[in-house]
Amino acid sequence: MNLERNKFYITTPIYYVNDKPHIGTGYTTLAADVLARLHRQLGEDVYFLTGTAEHGSKVAESAEKAGLNIQEFVDEYAAKFSLAWDELTIAPDDFIRTTEERHIRAVNLFFTKLKDSGKLYEGDYEGWYCVGCESFKKESELVNGVCPLHNRKPEWIKERNWFFKLSEFASILKEKIETDEFRIFPLARKNEVLSFINQGLEDIAVSRRTAKFAMPLPWDKEQTIYVWLDELFNYCSAIGYESDRKKFDKYWPADFHIIGKDIIKFHCIIWPALLLAIGEQLPRAVYAHGFFTVNGQKMSKSLGNVMDPVALAHQYGSDAVRYFLLREVPFGQDGDVSEEKLKERYNADLANGLGNLFSRVTNMMEKYLDGDLGDARVSPKDLSEVSEAFHSLNFSEGLVKIWEAIAWANQLIDKSKPWELVKTEPKKVKELLLSLGALLYDIALKLSPVMPETANKIKTALEQEKIMKPAQPLFPKIE
Ligand SMILES: [Zn+2]
Repeated sequence: MNLERNKFYITTPIYYVNDKPHIGTGYTTLAADVLARLHRQLGEDVYFLTGTAEHGSKVAESAEKAGLNIQEFVDEYAAKFSLAWDELTIAPDDFIRTTEERHIRAVNLFFTKLKDSGKLYEGDYEGWYCVGCESFKKESELVNGVCPLHNRKPEWIKERNWFFKLSEFASILKEKIETDEFRIFPLARKNEVLSFINQGLEDIAVSRRTAKFAMPLPWDKEQTIYVWLDELFNYCSAIGYESDRKKFDKYWPADFHIIGKDIIKFHCIIWPALLLAIGEQLPRAVYAHGFFTVNGQKMSKSLGNVMDPVALAHQYGSDAVRYFLLREVPFGQDGDVSEEKLKERYNADLANGLGNLFSRVTNMMEKYLDGDLGDARVSPKDLSEVSEAFHSLNFSEGLVKIWEAIAWANQLIDKSKPWELVKTEPKKVKELLLSLGALLYDIALKLSPVMPETANKIKTALEQEKIMKPAQPLFPKIE
C-alpha cells in the first residue's frame, strides 16, 4: 500500500503591487483556491501559492507617484493583497514576495545555472519597451505608436544585454505540448501557443541595463535581471529551490499554474524553455482563463466601471461573490459581469434557491420530527458529476448540476405539501424530510470548495442532534 499522500501544487501569477486587487486577479486566485480546497477534501498534500511581484520600473514609478519609499510602498500593497484574499475566504498555504531573501537567493542560483547551461550570450538590443507591460513590443503590436494595453508611448531602448537562446527550444516545446506531456487549457489557448511556436521563436533579452529596482545579474553587476524572469521563478523559489531541496522535490513540478490568457507566452513558452535549460521538469498544466467585460465594456479606471471584489464581498458576502464569478462565466471563456447580474443571481439562486430550501427543510425538521433524526439516509440525487466538473475546472457546469437538485427539491416540497400531509401521514413526512436533509448535506459537501462558509453553516445545522437552524437566513433577500 502506498502511504505517501498525493501532492497537489497549484499557483497563481504573482501580482504587481502598483494596483490593488481587482476582479481579474480575484478571479484567478479564487479558481486556484477552489481547486486547492477540492484536493484538500481528497486528503492530498496541497500547496497553494500566490504572492506579489515587487521589482521593476513599474513598481518604482508607482512608489514615486505615491510619494513613498519603495520598501514602504511594496509592504503596504503586499498587505492589501493578503487582506483581500482573506476577505474573499481565499486561503493560500504560502504568499511569496519577490523582495524576500528566499526568493532573491533562489533567483541568483537560477541565473547562475542558466549561465552555466551555455544558453545565454551577450548581444545588443534595440526596440520599443513598454514599462506598463514590462516587455519589449514589436512595431506590429503598437497602435498609432502607443501600447494599446497601456495607452502610452513605449521607450526606444538600445543597449547591451544578455540573451537567452529561446529559438533553440521551439521543436522540443512543440513536441511536449502536442503530446500533452505539458498540458495547456483550454484547447483554444493550446492552439494559440502552438501557432506562436510555428511562427518561429526569437531569442529574448534576459537582462536590462536601465531597469529601476531590479536584481543585478550575479556575474555582471551593470545588468539587472529582466523582471519577468525574476517573477516566473517564484514558482520554484517558494518551495525551497535554493534552501530546501527535499521540499522542492516533493512539490515540483507544479500541477497547475492558473493564469489569465494575456500572459500565456510567458507561461507556456518562455517559462518551460527556461526550466528545460536548467534541467528541471516542466509544470504538468497551465490553465489560462478569459477576461471579463462589465455591461459589454472593457473594465477601465477611466470608464469608472472597475468592479472591486472586496467591496462586493462586504455587501453580498464572500460566498455570494465566489458563487457568482464561477457560475456566471464558464471558466476559460470571456464573459460579461455586472453588479446587476450579481444581484439577480443572489436573489434567484441563493436567496430563493438554496437559502429557501435550507430554511424550509430545517424548519419542518424542527417542527415535525421533534428532533428525532433517526438513521442516516441516502441522498435521493446523485451529485457525483459535480466533483468531476470541478476537477476539470468546469465550475459553472458543476454549479448548474447542484442547482438542478435544489430546484428539484423545492418543487418536491411544493408538490407534496408536508404541512398538510403531516396530519394524515406523519411517517411519510418524516421519510421525506430525512431524505431532503441527506440531499442538503451532500450539497454542502459538494459546494464547500466554492462556498466554504455556507457549506459549513448547512453542515453544522444538520449535524446537531436536534436541528438548530441559524438565527439568520443564509441569504437575506436584497432589494
Ligand atoms: Zn503596455
